[in-house]
Amino acid sequence: MLDLSHARNRMVEVHLSRRGIHGREVLNAMREVPREAFVAPGFEEFAYEDGPLPIAEGQTISQPYIVALMIEMAEIGPGDHVLEVGTGSGYAAAVLSRIVERVYTIERHAGLAETARQRFQELGYDNIEVRTGDGTKGWPDAAPFDAILVAAGGPGAPLALQEQLDVGGRLVIPVGDEPHDQRLLKVTRTGAATYSEEDFGGVRFVPLIGEQGWPESGNRIANDRPSGRARTRSLPEMIAAAAEPLPDFDDPAFGKLFDRFGDRRVVLLGEASHGTSEFYRARAAITRRLIEKHGFTIVAVEADWPDAAAIDRYVRHRPPRANADPPFQRFPTWMWRNSDVAAFVDWMRHHNERIRLSSRLAGFYGLDIYNMSGSIAAVLQYLDRVDPQAAKIARERYGCLTPWQHEPSTYGRVALTSGYEKCEQAVFEQCRELLARQLDYAQQDGIDFLDATQNARLIASAERYYRIMYYGGAQSWNLRDTHMFETLEHLLEARGPNAKAVVWAHNSHIGDARYTEMGIVRDEVNIGQFCRQRFGDEAALIGLSTHSGTVAAASDWDSEMEIKRVRPSHNDSYERLCHDSGVSRFLLDIKRDDTLRQRLLERRLERFIGVIYRPETELRSHYAGASLSQQFDAFVWFDETVAVTPLGPEHVGTGVPDTYPFGL
Ligand code: SAM
Repeated sequence: MLDLSHARNRMVEVHLSRRGIHGREVLNAMREVPREAFVAPGFEEFAYEDGPLPIAEGQTISQPYIVALMIEMAEIGPGDHVLEVGTGSGYAAAVLSRIVERVYTIERHAGLAETARQRFQELGYDNIEVRTGDGTKGWPDAAPFDAILVAAGGPGAPLALQEQLDVGGRLVIPVGDEPHDQRLLKVTRTGAATYSEEDFGGVRFVPLIGEQGWPESGNRIANDRPSGRARTRSLPEMIAAAAEPLPDFDDPAFGKLFDRFGDRRVVLLGEASHGTSEFYRARAAITRRLIEKHGFTIVAVEADWPDAAAIDRYVRHRPPRANADPPFQRFPTWMWRNSDVAAFVDWMRHHNERIRLSSRLAGFYGLDIYNMSGSIAAVLQYLDRVDPQAAKIARERYGCLTPWQHEPSTYGRVALTSGYEKCEQAVFEQCRELLARQLDYAQQDGIDFLDATQNARLIASAERYYRIMYYGGAQSWNLRDTHMFETLEHLLEARGPNAKAVVWAHNSHIGDARYTEMGIVRDEVNIGQFCRQRFGDEAALIGLSTHSGTVAAASDWDSEMEIKRVRPSHNDSYERLCHDSGVSRFLLDIKRDDTLRQRLLERRLERFIGVIYRPETELRSHYAGASLSQQFDAFVWFDETVAVTPLGPEHVGTGVPDTYPFGL
């Protein structure tokens, strides 16, 4: 028998307490009721994730947070007389039954009502009365109620339910003009014939079907809401109205649409996967425009510093570093070895050819920290050239890491047991010493000095990263994103006071983490958040995403790249709203339309595909909650997308001299 009490307590802490549910009674009740007993067989292990789950009859068991929120909104206390409409699995009624003396609950599907009844019996919850019927008509013989909770969304608050409230009683119900898109409404009976209303934001429930709800077909049959409210537009309609259609990537009009971000210090361009051609091509088109027309000179990407440095040499017409390993040989090679990146890199090279002033040359830089061995080789080679004596000392210091250079993830485990302090101290000293010699070294060549110091910083960060990665948790993610942001700051500093940067990284790095599950639940930070905190309105955070198509991704870390089909986006996701807008590719300038911005505050699912994509477990492994209009300033949409074309395996590890990007 699965013991999920730990998961249950964690769910209460992480998904309820931390998100503002404070009522002692509701938190205790949710700690007591085993949600796994209410989910469909096979779903027990997901019982404590904060999401709805399917049950019989095409219905759902509500998300724990929403159950708790509704109980708090209705201010339900021990002495209250309570009705629930929409028993479903029986979970919410069970939670209520731990707070009040008696619960009345109605379900229109007889099968669901019966299963719920059996569950209550098995758990010994004998203070719940279940009835099969149309809950929009209430339970007149048990009225009046102090609180009524409706767990399905109707076109309005049924009059019968309002009338069955005691004076001072509260009705909480999702209402909306679309059967699947609602706002959570609290109606309080203030007098014999008077009511007040409060709106608690957007939600998505299954439809309330009945005489004073929706008909089976989905059209409205009764509207008992106090009349006089104009029909509000649906969210997809609002998105369609605000969407600015995107022309072809090669049409100058594409880049022009992004001129509005030309005066920013930093423009961050995201992606919803690491293997989608449209995301690369769109970012290339926007970046070309920002470089050509708005004076951006830094392209900083989610790639390792030493690998990106090889590209930088190419785009600036500098010779490749002697004896250097070819760049981007490690998994996932397709991320930066693909035809879209190659085309953009060639464009940068041609652009730089036309620029005479070296301070105006556009550079290509890596923000990431994984290629420790590449960085060690680069620092040693640099010192061999500028200061052979210092190179000898550096060799000794880095020698501490040599056994793990090619398998750095094992370093963390070893460091746990034996004197890692030696390595930590050595790499730190090396970095400090290099920086202290700036005056000496930088005079010889500023670009090479920047390269060497960034490599030394990478080694120091990577040493810590692999050490703490072993413990799991947010720390290693946070260290990585902190390093990425600091690298961006060093670049801006190195390129002068007016330097402007474009950043290419995954949406999970550039969408402000404070408004996604990453920050709210896992205490993770990211570059987008740091940029907002440091640059304020001078940073633009732009997310890119898609509905379906194909993507280049692997099934496991270090396994083969495959071209996989991207499943159509989930019904409860932002992606689905964009898809339902009917506009196939667009820019959504969220900050320009305040009503839309308000509507996009609501927490919904968002899809994150990385280098790994597992469509079979997509909901669990690739979706997370976010508030889109706080996460991003703008959103770029491609409804149907295709996988990147990798620059074939003949470039890597086959004995054929690898010259990427120089041989292209
Ligand atoms: N509270 C439930 C739980 O914790 O499992 C979740 C309920 S589910 C989101 C909504 C339920 O409302 C469905 O089981 C649906 O059949 C039911 N429902 C819809 N319209 C109804 C109506 N008019 N009367 C009673 N039940 C209704």
